[in-house]
Amino acid sequence: LEELVDAVVEKMERAQGADGYLNTYFQWVEPGKRWTNLRDNHELYCAGHLIEAAVAYFQATGKRKMLEVLCRYVDHIAATFGTEPGKKRGYCGHEEIELALVKLYHVTRDPKHLALAKYFIFERGQRPGGKHYFAQEAEARGEGSKKNWTGLEYYQADMPVREQTTAEGHAVRAMYLYCGMTDLALETQDPTLTEPLQALWQNVTGRRMYITGGVGSAHHGERFTTDYDLPNETAYCETCAAIGLAFWAQGMGRLTGEGHYIDVLERAIYNGALAGISLDGKKFFYVNPLESRGNHHRRDWFDCACCPPNIARLLASLSGYVYSTSAEGLYVHLYASTRASVELGGQTVQVEQATQYPWHEQIRLTISPERPAVFAVRLRKPGWCRTATVKVNGKPAETTTDKGYLVLQRTWKQGDAIELKLAMPVERLEASPAVGSDCGRVALQRGPLVYCVEEVDNGGQLNDLALEPAEQFKVRHEPGLLGGVTVLAAEATRRDDAAWGTELYRTANDTPRKKVGIIAVPYYAWDNRAAGEMLVWLRQG
Ligand SMILES: [Zn+2]
Repeated sequence: LEELVDAVVEKMERAQGADGYLNTYFQWVEPGKRWTNLRDNHELYCAGHLIEAAVAYFQATGKRKMLEVLCRYVDHIAATFGTEPGKKRGYCGHEEIELALVKLYHVTRDPKHLALAKYFIFERGQRPGGKHYFAQEAEARGEGSKKNWTGLEYYQADMPVREQTTAEGHAVRAMYLYCGMTDLALETQDPTLTEPLQALWQNVTGRRMYITGGVGSAHHGERFTTDYDLPNETAYCETCAAIGLAFWAQGMGRLTGEGHYIDVLERAIYNGALAGISLDGKKFFYVNPLESRGNHHRRDWFDCACCPPNIARLLASLSGYVYSTSAEGLYVHLYASTRASVELGGQTVQVEQATQYPWHEQIRLTISPERPAVFAVRLRKPGWCRTATVKVNGKPAETTTDKGYLVLQRTWKQGDAIELKLAMPVERLEASPAVGSDCGRVALQRGPLVYCVEEVDNGGQLNDLALEPAEQFKVRHEPGLLGGVTVLAAEATRRDDAAWGTELYRTANDTPRKKVGIIAVPYYAWDNRAAGEMLVWLRQG
C-alpha cells in the first residue's frame, strides 16, 4: 500500500501547478474555469479530502512529501480566498476543507492553516455588500439571477453559522460543517460556537436522527427535512452522513467530556455506518433505509463514490476512537479488544482490553504504568446500559459517575485488572409519538446493536408480523451465521395467508392469526444473504 501511495504522491507532485494549484480537472479539462463555481464544483471539497489524506499518510508513515504538496496548495488557497482586498470572499458549496484545515493545523501548527479554517467557517452565509457569494459568482458566470434549485440552506449557507439552530439541507454537508465548527471551537475555545453547536446537536439527535444513527431522511437533495420526519422505507441515510455524525459526536465528546455524545458515535458506527459495507468488504450501500421490499442491495461501486472510501477510512481509523487522556487520567470511550500505550503524568501506561463486546457483557482491562501512579480511569457507561458493575483485581470497586463515565480514582500499579460488566438485556425501544412512521412499533436493541428482521429468516410481508408486548427474547450466539452474530429469537403472530382470498380489502378481524417464530439479526449485517424484505420497526400487537 505504501508503494502505491508513494507512486500517487509522485504524480501529484508532478501535476501541481507552479502556483500550488492541484486539481487536474481544472488544470487540463476546463482550465479556464478554476474557482468559478464554488457552489457546485467541489474544488475546495476535493482539496479538503487531499489534505486529510496527506495528514493521515504523514501520521502513518512519517513521510512528508504529500504534506508538503498540500501545504503549497493551501498557501495558494489562502492567497486566493479571504476578506482582504483583492481576494475572493468565497467558500465551498460542500463543506470538508474546514475540518481538514484544522487537522492540518494539528500537524503543522502553522497559524495560517487555522486562520483559513476560521475564515471558511465564519464567511459562510455572509452577504458582503448585500450580495451572497454564490449569487455573485453565478452572475459572473453569466447566469444572471436565475434561482438555484436547492436554496441556500441546502449548503448551510443561508445565514452565518452562529445563527444556525436547526440542521438544514444536505446531510453530509451539514455534518462536515458541524465537525469543522466543533474542531475550531476546541482549538480556539470560542464560546460563540458552543451555543449553536448545542442547538444543532439537540435538533439532530433529538428530532432528526434514525435509531441507527442515520441522518438525512429525504432522497430528494439527500437532505434533512422537518422535525420527526423519519420514514423508514424511503429513508435516505447516506453512509457518509452516519460517518459524519460519528466524527461530529467524537468532537462534541472532546469539547465537553460528556459520554452521551459517544453514545451517538457508538450508535452510528455499529449501525448506520457499518451497514454501508458488506461482510466481505466488497459491496457498499450509499443509502441505508430501515425497511426494504427486497429491492435494495449493496453495489460494487458508485459514480459518485464518496461512501466506499469513507467507510474504509473509518474502519481503518477506529482504534483512534477507543481511548483518550486528559490531565486527570485515562478515558475509555469504546469497548474493543485493543492494546494501547498512552502518556499519563510523565510516564507511559500500557492499556490492554480483552472483550467479546458487543456480543458479551464482560470487558477486562489491564492497566500497567511503569511505576505506581495516582490517576483516574474513566469508563464510559453507555446510555443503553442500566446496570454496570466494576471490579478491580477481583474485588467490587467503588466508582463515582461523572458525565456518563464511571470513574475509578486510585493508585494504579503494573497489571491492575478492571472487570467491567455492562448488562445487555434485549430492549424494545419506541419512538416519540411525533414520529408517525413508528407509531405502534418497536425496534429491538441489544447493547449498541439495533436489530432487524429479514425475509430469509422470517418469510415475506414482514409488516404483518406482530410482537406480543410481553414476549421474551432468547439470545443466541451463532458463530456460523453472518460472520458470527448474536441473534434474537421470539414468537410473534401473523395472519394466516391460507385464510386470505384474492380480495384487496375485507372486514377486519375475519382472518385468524397464527403464531410464528421470528429471528432478528443485527441491522449492520442485513442484505448479506438471499435478497428479500427487511424491517427494523416491528409492529407490536
Ligand atoms: Zn457518501
